[in-house]
Amino acid sequence: MTTAESRPSLDFVRTAIEDDLKQGRFPGVVTRFPPEPNGYLHIGHAKSICLNFALAAQYGGKCHLRFDDTNPIKEEQRYIDAIKEDIRWLGFDWGGNEFYASDYFEQLYEWAVKLIEAGLAYVDDLSLEEIRQYRGTLTEPGRPSPHRERPVEENLDLFRQMRDGAFENGSKVLRAKIDMASPNINLRDPVMYRILKAKHHRTGEAWSIYPMYDWAHGQSDSIEGITHSICTLEFEDHRPLYDWFIQALGIHHPRQIEFARLNLSHTVMSKRKLLELVNENHVEGWDDPRMPTISAMRRRGYPPEAIRAFAEGVGVTKRKQTVSIALLEHHVREHLNKSAPRIMGVIKPLKVVIENYPEDQSDELEAVNNPEDESAGTRKVPFGREIYIEQDDFMEDPPRKFFRLAPGREVRLRYAYLVTCTEVIKDADGNVTELRCTYDPESRGGNAPDGRKVKATLHWVSARHGLRAEVREYNALFTQEDPTDVPEDGDWRETINPDSLNVVLDAIIEPSVRGAAPGTRYQFERIGYFCVDPDTTGDTLIFNRTVTLRDAWANIKKREGNA
Ligand code: ATP
Ligand code: MG
Repeated sequence: MTTAESRPSLDFVRTAIEDDLKQGRFPGVVTRFPPEPNGYLHIGHAKSICLNFALAAQYGGKCHLRFDDTNPIKEEQRYIDAIKEDIRWLGFDWGGNEFYASDYFEQLYEWAVKLIEAGLAYVDDLSLEEIRQYRGTLTEPGRPSPHRERPVEENLDLFRQMRDGAFENGSKVLRAKIDMASPNINLRDPVMYRILKAKHHRTGEAWSIYPMYDWAHGQSDSIEGITHSICTLEFEDHRPLYDWFIQALGIHHPRQIEFARLNLSHTVMSKRKLLELVNENHVEGWDDPRMPTISAMRRRGYPPEAIRAFAEGVGVTKRKQTVSIALLEHHVREHLNKSAPRIMGVIKPLKVVIENYPEDQSDELEAVNNPEDESAGTRKVPFGREIYIEQDDFMEDPPRKFFRLAPGREVRLRYAYLVTCTEVIKDADGNVTELRCTYDPESRGGNAPDGRKVKATLHWVSARHGLRAEVREYNALFTQEDPTDVPEDGDWRETINPDSLNVVLDAIIEPSVRGAAPGTRYQFERIGYFCVDPDTTGDTLIFNRTVTLRDAWANIKKREGNA
């Protein structure tokens, strides 16, 4: 027999699946991703999506998309649309296998009737609060409801009336009759149905009762012939309940396998908290590029390939994992380094006048689009007498290790010429407002004809040709690794980073980006990766800073390596 130890490359989920296939427990593999349409997908969901679709692909099976839409009060069509868009964008295709728990409401109702007839479910008049009190605790057994022994006929009649809308919200529930003394609280007669006179986004007003998640979920998996129900650890304690329902009904029994949720540092992932961030205007919306949602990451410029590589890279574990956001950014850089065309853009412009360059002249220089990808080719970048460089690339009085521009010093303008700073012009407050330089006409392309050494290479944009752009620089949304780690009288919202967004209105970008469509990604040389935002209208481009060039993850690894 093969053991998990002899197949070290297999995680526990794949080990379980392969054992099942070998033993003929299931003829193939059918997984599903089961979102509740009550919010937008986040990076944790991406992990589950990647896992479920990867398992289906690996074992030649299928992965269903099923909306677990059992709570009409919180669910909306727009969330369904956004979820589908996000999964497609991530690169996955569920084919025709799009399902809804609400499609099974009639079947679930019939099965509930079957359980009542078998004496395994009853209508209870206790309120939800009373049910909680009767339920007991981890150390104390629960107490039976006074209605627990209702005769089958009465239960059937009351349940029918619940469905018909004869009772008020909250006045009755249907409960499974299992064991009020079970050490597993999930088995202490869990609620199966509640009365909820609410309009459902798909079934309209057809129902006055709605199944609880625990009653709908396992049966939905069973109806769809799911073989492996992959879910997160908090459902481990629910598994005995799901098994109980399936056995009582005598229907197809999927195998449930639990793994640890993915948590990401410096952000929150609970949908309730994300909704609060949106509703309380801490961010601009669900797709605000600071959010951990898929739509925000798309808008920010994260490539789907990077998210997939991240999700697959962190692996599946049983232990709670909080992964550094630096690792996600590392994958983003890795992918963009290979795929994003380079351009020159100046975020904080400082004007430079090249005094020996003729006023009426201009020049076109050849620039490499992507040194990592020869097929990306080259482009022409215009040069002129007035250019902009980055304010940070000049210091009037430089310290020893500053090799960039300073009075009297020569630097290389990328792809262009060598220039020497001859004069510094300041305003009344002593701020540097302009530099005067001379260039060496013999250095076209950036090489000194006599081979003299020039240390620094700066990026630049021609003043006459450059495009003004807005740049949105994002930083972490929270100041601490775990934003919810606050004192008891504290509030997680107090850990929101006040500097999570810095808007620059007057960046200057080389003209080749004119007309770039929203979603286009570039590397601004020496600065970082940027993506055109959909807010762009007319001539002024708006760029989101996807990520800077500095790879914090690689540095962490390097330090660990040296330690
Ligand atoms: P809630 O149920 O509180 O609304 P949820 O995040 O569980 O929030 P669902 O829509 O139920 O949202 O999740 C859909 C699927 O995504 C579930 O199978 C769930 O296990 C999985 N999932 C959700 N969050 C994570 C996470 N952080 N890591 C891995 N999988 C996750
Ligand atoms: Mg859930």
